[in-house]
Amino acid sequence: MLAPAVAKAAAQAPGLDEHGLPKTVFLPPPVPLSGTGPVIGIDLGTTNSCVALLSNGRPLVLRSREGYNTIPSVISLNAQNKLLVSHRAKNQLVLRPQHTIYGAKRLVGRPYDSAVVNQVRERFHYDIVPDSAGRAAVRLADTALSLEEVQALILRECKEMAEAHLNQKVERAVVTVPAYYSEPQREAVRKSGILAGLKVERILNEPTSAALAYGLNRELNKKVLVYDLGGGTFDATILKIEKNVFEVLGTGGDVFLGGIDFDNLIVDYLLARFQEKEGITFTGDGIALSRVSDAAERAKMGLSERSTFEVHIPMLMMDDSGRPRDLRVVLSRQELEKICEPLLSRTIDVVRDVLLDAKLKAAEVDDIILVGGMSRMPLVRDKLKSLFGKGAQASVNADEAVALGAALYSGSVDKVSSVVLIDVLPMTVGVAMPGGAFKRVIERNSPLPAQRSFAINTTKDNEAFLELSIFQGEDSHISANEYLGTVRIEGLPKGPKGSVRVAVTLKLDSECVLHVEAREYSTRKEVKATLATRYSPEELQKQLQVSKESVKAAEERRGADLKERAGGFWSFVKKALGRK
Ligand code: ADP
Ligand code: MG
Repeated sequence: MLAPAVAKAAAQAPGLDEHGLPKTVFLPPPVPLSGTGPVIGIDLGTTNSCVALLSNGRPLVLRSREGYNTIPSVISLNAQNKLLVSHRAKNQLVLRPQHTIYGAKRLVGRPYDSAVVNQVRERFHYDIVPDSAGRAAVRLADTALSLEEVQALILRECKEMAEAHLNQKVERAVVTVPAYYSEPQREAVRKSGILAGLKVERILNEPTSAALAYGLNRELNKKVLVYDLGGGTFDATILKIEKNVFEVLGTGGDVFLGGIDFDNLIVDYLLARFQEKEGITFTGDGIALSRVSDAAERAKMGLSERSTFEVHIPMLMMDDSGRPRDLRVVLSRQELEKICEPLLSRTIDVVRDVLLDAKLKAAEVDDIILVGGMSRMPLVRDKLKSLFGKGAQASVNADEAVALGAALYSGSVDKVSSVVLIDVLPMTVGVAMPGGAFKRVIERNSPLPAQRSFAINTTKDNEAFLELSIFQGEDSHISANEYLGTVRIEGLPKGPKGSVRVAVTLKLDSECVLHVEAREYSTRKEVKATLATRYSPEELQKQLQVSKESVKAAEERRGADLKERAGGFWSFVKKALGRK
């Protein structure tokens, strides 16, 4: 039934050290962690990260050196080749866009060849390159840096903030990730932790964490919506809170819908107004464009508080006669809302889908929790109010809720706790069939932990081992889904083909980590099954006898889907940098 197994040793992937960790350039090599001492909570965000910890039993958000409650998730090399992290790195974005790495969270744990990496590669200012193991990495000056290391540098900053506050060493953390994060992405977060000198005690889903911040120890009995609109992504999750049991009923989102998309639309609008007023087309370079996008973001944030905002960018560009021209536009909240309406409507569509997944009517949702900087836009509240007929909770801080929940949960790491978290599987997990069809094994939205078993047979006489390639995603063809790895089942008894049967069990634990077990039918004995081998896409296609046409069709399906959702995502950056 399965494709013939290909003999191949599970070699140590190049680019990794002997612990399977990416080799680092800017960090000291990892040291063994003691696994004791305080545990902190970290919201490792796409745009901003936030650190919190328990102080006398109460969760407390830490301030950065600059006095902010969040730090930008950005690293940069300055002109003197000095590595900068967070606020100081973000300041380099306009000056040294090619040397400033942001949005690493979108790329970490993904193969270079994956559809998402292809999709964003040409839109990022910096170079995304394959590492020697075929995963996405980034180039900073002349060094290729793993995304685990980029994330580790941000985690280390968080760790240092906590150490400065506590005046003691911090080696343990609860780190949050998006609910839709795949298995390899979660694994990458653990590796980043180790590189940063942090043992990741628990990986918590962001919406669950926000719900904890809202409802822990409050004796609630409610269904809540967590609406999280951040800098790059949108997530909507409905949870049932019953005392301290937090159960996800449905989750959905859009990985290409966040603050940056709003900024882009505002940039387009400002440039159109500039052209109208000045009678010339904007032909500025990348730096000029960064200034406009910076101003657009400022205007957007300002208009969350005020009804008008004046955008003034002196000497935006020179005209043909060498005269400097300013951009000066007064933007009203009304205009802004008109620009942003289509994007916010998309978030409401996602919310409606999640309601369907959770089998709930809008009226059955008791409370709305707003998370993410973008949710401060007043139109978000208005739109949700017209769908649900009630306002959002004012008690939750949109920037801090996720980190506060992680800090609260850190209190349960070392002791038996009454908190129960029931998450769901974000994307279906299944196996590859000959020809490349995807056989679904554990369905999306199944409550975790989950496990399913199925049987496979040998297809050759005296076959010594079987291999099973595991994927995650919703497409019917493996090429449009994410490759998790290949399981090798060894130590099979000898016998004619088809006579040896193995029961394979895929298990996902409560943190969505995949475990595989295999048991031989006749002897009932457990046989060795390890998820260690990784093939290149070409090797896999050959092994499973996948036709080129079906791969192409699947990739087009996936590409079209992403393109549609990506919308105008950084189209202006492409324009400005003259990239295709
Ligand atoms: P992430 O979860 O991606 O790290 P955040 O939750 O920090 O992101 O959200 C960052 C986004 O929120 C940015 O696009 C920023 O412009 C936007 N933002 C922050 N404050 C406001 C505000 N007051 N009004 C509107 N948008 C805001
Ligand atoms: Mg966030």
